[in-house]
Amino acid sequence: MDYFPIFLNLADQPCLVAGGGDVALRKVTLLAKAGARVTVVAPALCPALAELALSAKIHHVARAWQANDLAGMRLAIAATDDAVVNAAIYAAGEAAGVSVNAVDAPAHCRFIVPAIVDRSPLVLAISSGGNAPVLARQVRARIEAWLPHGYGALARLAGALRERVKTRFADERARRRFWEQALDGPAAEKALAGDEAGAAAVLEATLAASDDAALTRGAVYLVGAGPGNPDLLTFRALRLMQKADVVLYDNLVSPAIMELVRRDAERIYVGKKASNHALPQEEINQLLVRLAQEGKSVLRLKGGDPFIFGRGGEEIEELAVHGVDFEVVPGITSAAGASCYAGIPLTHRDYAQSVTFVTGHRRGDVIELDWARLTNDAETVVVYMGVAQAPRLCAELIAHGRAADTPAAVIEKATLPTQRTLIGTLATLPALIEQAAIKPPALIIIGRVVTLHDKLNWRGDETSRHPTTSH
Ligand code: SAH
Repeated sequence: MDYFPIFLNLADQPCLVAGGGDVALRKVTLLAKAGARVTVVAPALCPALAELALSAKIHHVARAWQANDLAGMRLAIAATDDAVVNAAIYAAGEAAGVSVNAVDAPAHCRFIVPAIVDRSPLVLAISSGGNAPVLARQVRARIEAWLPHGYGALARLAGALRERVKTRFADERARRRFWEQALDGPAAEKALAGDEAGAAAVLEATLAASDDAALTRGAVYLVGAGPGNPDLLTFRALRLMQKADVVLYDNLVSPAIMELVRRDAERIYVGKKASNHALPQEEINQLLVRLAQEGKSVLRLKGGDPFIFGRGGEEIEELAVHGVDFEVVPGITSAAGASCYAGIPLTHRDYAQSVTFVTGHRRGDVIELDWARLTNDAETVVVYMGVAQAPRLCAELIAHGRAADTPAAVIEKATLPTQRTLIGTLATLPALIEQAAIKPPALIIIGRVVTLHDKLNWRGDETSRHPTTSH
């Protein structure tokens, strides 16, 4: 983040605008909206500014800018048509400790003015950090179109109730949960429909009927975060991520997804690489129970789907035993993500009538798989956690009768920008994996559907093939 975003209270604060043209006018208008006391220094004013000066809405100093004009100012905007003068104002501001924005000159700005979506008192500020103001404005236009005007009214109503809610709920978490519920239901619907009085009545009723015990009860949300690409989160996952008091995550949850978790939520990394468990499963289970019993809204974020090789079952068993409220939210399992993003359908009328998900994880020294069941040529097999064991996996399948030239693919970091896909056969895949130094997370897909990758690779990923693979 190159700039620190803040909202300034400028009510009745002295602010300087240097320049008397249209650009200055726009800045003056904005400052005046925020209640600032604006002084404009310029030898001459455009008609609109002249009118504001005449009606004493601004104070006009009719001469060129001088360094001591900055004295006592909260901030200043250099909007003359001379870039050299604007730069000088910036330099003077730096020396005097006054924040200056020189229009269209990011290098001469102590602060920048964002694009704004105004649903006062709800205001959204959008900035590209001076890199692409037009892009910021395009984003603004999208939000303008999407954000209903009624949100302004809703924010006003909430503001009017704020002190009473604060008195009613001493507990900060109960207060936040009250607002989360109150602002998400029928009150919001009414406000958005323009029925401000109706919305106020609903808010009052919600406050009167709110149940303290329910608002301070903890719960665990076991949420599938999908294979890593944030676009593949569910709406439910995103909502719960925005509400969590604390989040437990492991390394299958990508940084881009963690970015979407409520900023104030406590983050606990619980590890989970095959070889490097930061916390044993038993302790994770107990930690979930303890945090929920403290009244927290606990988000257990898991890669893919929580009930597919995710040990989600064990985690909630423990919760059920202790009578902790919980909810399970499905996620896109990595097999589905990898399949779509590599252009390899898991079933296909001509090639595979069924699909089996298996784990290549070892227990002790054995891979516990029913090999004989995996040799049907009309079935696709997807192996989770199988990269390290690929040589054994492929050898066993061949030994049990699956053809050595059965097409096979490995997809590393599926759905992420760094996804890699390698295509070979049961015979060649292990060498291919070793050569390319494929690392977890990666999935192996075995079956004739793999040949479709050539046609259906819509992402245009570069595909590596083992030299001995014939196509
Ligand atoms: N619950 C998860 C699976 C957890 S087991 C799910 O539904 O996807 C961990 C294994 O999932 C990894 O070893 C790997 O085989 C697979 N995996 C998870 N995310 C992946 C990704 N983005 N790309 C490839 N494989 C992935």
